[in-house]
Amino acid sequence: MVIRIWGTRGSIATPGPETVRYGGNTTCVEVRLSGGKTLILDAGSGIRPLGNSLLSKEESPEVYLFITHIHWDHIMGFPFFAPIYREGTRIWLDGCKRAMEGLKLTLNRGMVDGVFPVSYEGLRSKIEELGQLGTGTLSIGDAVIDAIELNHPQGGMGFRIREGGKSLVFLTDNELAASRSNGRAFGDYGRFCEGVDLLIHDSQYLPEEMDAKRGWGHSDVISAVELALKAGVGRFLFTHHDPERTDLQVDRMVALAREFASAEGGHLQVEGAREGMIIEL
Ligand SMILES: [Zn+2]
Ligand SMILES: [Zn+2]
Repeated sequence: MVIRIWGTRGSIATPGPETVRYGGNTTCVEVRLSGGKTLILDAGSGIRPLGNSLLSKEESPEVYLFITHIHWDHIMGFPFFAPIYREGTRIWLDGCKRAMEGLKLTLNRGMVDGVFPVSYEGLRSKIEELGQLGTGTLSIGDAVIDAIELNHPQGGMGFRIREGGKSLVFLTDNELAASRSNGRAFGDYGRFCEGVDLLIHDSQYLPEEMDAKRGWGHSDVISAVELALKAGVGRFLFTHHDPERTDLQVDRMVALAREFASAEGGHLQVEGAREGMIIEL
């Protein structure tokens, strides 16, 4: 499978000279399976350029869209995902329970008319809700996808994608913590990530910021590296960069995370997720 990162930013899009390298778009990841199907993880503002990329290759794309949760930064790009306006486009939707409700909300705000010019009912594409990942695994060709609950306000869903002996886990908006309001314990996430080739995990904060941010549903970078080390993953990418974090500050987080990983031993490859990054597994 080939993974391309289209959005790395948490909370709100942050264009500007200080976020050019790691990117200003909010969460969106494209996974192209070896079998040829395309999966999209989250519809943050990064889904806009992804949509244009898909349309440059095919007239009416067919994609699977998995939504982790419906916080605004993970669905805000949906109205600007150009394929939804094309007849013939097919989208199979899965992920958190309220995924469809969230996507509709980006276009229809009930009583508040005038916030977006197109309604969900006006879309020309066909969007079908699968609702499979909440109950078990989903097979797409030879790929098998399963999910785990996130420790995040109002909940959410993380995904594991396995195909041809390769595997990816995507856990964003997840607080690795001893006490939790929902989601799972550290050990459960460890088992979910066991031996995967690539782990992409939320690391919005530095360890010293956590006291002020506990319960917000995000992890510090060292806890996320600890998870990657314990689970024996091959490569670790941290994402959901704080909107206030400049490229230079993310560079320092990368250095800190690498220092910690090498002090713990092993050969974990650590990077900060960058918009435009392509990883082939
Ligand atoms: Zn988020
Ligand atoms: Zn969130």
